[in-house]
Amino acid sequence: MSPSVSDADLSVCDREPIHLLGGIQPRGVLVAFRGDTEAVAVVSANVQALLGAGPDALLGKPLSGVLPRGLLARVEAGKGPGPVTVEVSGQRCSALLHDSDGLRVLELEPLADEDVGSDETALSAVQRLASPLARAKGTVALLQEAADAVRELIGYDRVMVYRFHADFHGEVVAESVREGVDAFMGLHYPASDIPAQARALYTRNPVRLIADVDAKAVALVPPVLPGPQRPLDLSGSALRGVSEIHLEYLRNMGVGASFSVSLLKDGQLWGLMACHHLAPRTVSAARRQACEVLARLLSLQLSAEERSLESAAQARHAALLNALVLPNLGERSPAKALEAHAPLLKELTGAHGVALVLGASAGPEASPLLLGTTPSAEEVRALVAWLSARELPDEAFHVDRLGDVYPPLASRADVAAGLLAVRLDPSVPHFALWFRPEVARTVAWAGNPNKPVRPEPGHARLRPRASFDVWREEMKGASTPWSAQDLEAARALKGALVGVVLRHAEELARLSRELARSNAELDAFGGTVAHDLKEPLRGILQYSSFLQEDFGPALGPDGLGQLEALGWLAKRTYELLDNLFEYSRLGRLELSWEETDQQTLVEDVLKTLGARLQEGRVEVRLPRRLPTLACDSIRIRQVWANLISNAAKYQTAEPRWVEVGFVGPDEARPEAARHVTAPYLFYVKDPGIGIAPQFHEAIFELFRRLHPAQAYGGGTGAGLAIARRLVSLHGGALWVDSALGQGSTFFFTLGEGPRP
Ligand code: ADP
Repeated sequence: MSPSVSDADLSVCDREPIHLLGGIQPRGVLVAFRGDTEAVAVVSANVQALLGAGPDALLGKPLSGVLPRGLLARVEAGKGPGPVTVEVSGQRCSALLHDSDGLRVLELEPLADEDVGSDETALSAVQRLASPLARAKGTVALLQEAADAVRELIGYDRVMVYRFHADFHGEVVAESVREGVDAFMGLHYPASDIPAQARALYTRNPVRLIADVDAKAVALVPPVLPGPQRPLDLSGSALRGVSEIHLEYLRNMGVGASFSVSLLKDGQLWGLMACHHLAPRTVSAARRQACEVLARLLSLQLSAEERSLESAAQARHAALLNALVLPNLGERSPAKALEAHAPLLKELTGAHGVALVLGASAGPEASPLLLGTTPSAEEVRALVAWLSARELPDEAFHVDRLGDVYPPLASRADVAAGLLAVRLDPSVPHFALWFRPEVARTVAWAGNPNKPVRPEPGHARLRPRASFDVWREEMKGASTPWSAQDLEAARALKGALVGVVLRHAEELARLSRELARSNAELDAFGGTVAHDLKEPLRGILQYSSFLQEDFGPALGPDGLGQLEALGWLAKRTYELLDNLFEYSRLGRLELSWEETDQQTLVEDVLKTLGARLQEGRVEVRLPRRLPTLACDSIRIRQVWANLISNAAKYQTAEPRWVEVGFVGPDEARPEAARHVTAPYLFYVKDPGIGIAPQFHEAIFELFRRLHPAQAYGGGTGAGLAIARRLVSLHGGALWVDSALGQGSTFFFTLGEGPRP
């Protein structure tokens, strides 16, 4: 913001009470009276000219004494769509009546010769003009028709349709000018040109005429109302005086007369029909009214037109979203597939550039996709890192002065004064970013050097500001604001993507339900088969031992050898079936949780394994006492037994040892268990043969062995599969850290306890 202008300067102008200026324009007279007694309460100082009596003679007297007989009754009766033409002191006037501050306010305006008897002309003009209006195709044509129609009706040099933007700065969107008069079409004006209270007044009282910018205002008598101690409220008055600032503004523009009609859309000020005449020129009440009717028609048309534009835009957005999102259904990361449709992304909001960031926040691997006018890839990466660290309400963020909140891009207002960002995925820093440049660079500002106002030192009144550049200075670093539609489109994109993500999650859930079902079926099948096959196998085993006992000598050494092999195979098959049966039963296993001293459990296991350990000369190391933790002790005993016996089994070199230990809460975790959040981490470590990384998962498969059946003391290859299933039934995990020839460490954790 420049040193010479501050917000305060403009808000001084914003606060000027323009409806209470206490004066009227001299083109008519005003008489305010009490509704019950008709006693005159306020008059304009110029009342004598029309009514033949001055303020002193009128105030406090009943109105019937001053006005021609029956005039008031006619005005009352004619109150409605149009002004009433009456004759006062031999002069034809238009009369308007309204209520303000509990008084009735009568305004009389003498008619120019051309307007005498023109009421019908004006109204039929509306009719004539309304039909081309209805035929106009599209907003632009509609506004142009309206501007031409109004100029024809009031005979002014310039008629502009001035549209307010979201930040209330204005733009001339249609114009009808007499040849030789400056055209303002396409120019933008700062919001301070038509300050907030003026806009409020335009909404309440849609028509305003300043017939002569140089005419001296006429005071009201008395200047303040005795009750509220302020001037009569002239909001509804046609003759209302004009702020001196506004008059100076008009004079500076070389304007002699000004007339404006508000355009309201759904009750909100959408714009103005702003009309200028270089010389003073009045517009009769009837013509003003005709313009008002025209403006209403236009407003209705505009509403309809905009609504159809909005729904067309919405349809377009929906189509864009479809195009963006549909192809992503098959993608693992929906955001990834957006890349292919990035040009559509830019169209989604009114942005000059778009960046799609799908990599890690600030890592060098993240290479944002840039389209249109955007900051550099490096700048975008830094911006995304900053955004990811912020709490984003709704996962969306928008500013029209990015430099104020994010100084590193303050010098890049040429491309990124405005930023609209949505986080596409809450779990990873994936963003879509839209950029807009500084507004001053993108629009044709009305470079009139005497536009907005500021108080000058020593002046109580506001005076036009010296240079428009100051205003430009104020707008430095600001983009046009993001519209509600822009935000909606960005959110819709995010919403659609979330929808895709959800659909993915649903699909996954469905698959895992199916998997669980087929697992259960397999378990049941495995269990039955194992159970049914064990019986005949037991028979085979029995018969082979009978054979051996009864007919051994007759069979000879070869026959005996084959019989032994048969017995061994049958035994092994029996073991396999036994393991399969056990494994399949785990699917239906109900754990019985109890606080269990793991130390006792392990000592118990060691006792059982004692002979084997001694035989293999394996030293068991227990660096410290194991903790007490809830589990199903029978099942976890089985886990310990499997891990310890494996550790003892799979080593060849001396000295042989097995270490059994744990890592407690708040203790440093080994690298292979860095991600573990469970408070206790148990391990069984050996210096044995180790396992190559590609088998770290395979060894947990049922019946998966890395060695021939009889190597390393034999085994079925079911132990680790069963152990892992038991651990996961407890809500824990079991995994290995090992390398070939480097020994192995098996880690496992346990869950919190039974699920409620
Ligand atoms: P089994 O020991 O009965 O073969 P497991 O399921 O317990 O079956 O183990 C599967 C395979 O994992 C083993 O055959 C072995 O190859 C490998 N393995 C298990 N524990 C270790 C260990 N401590 N060191 C090296 N290899 C191991």
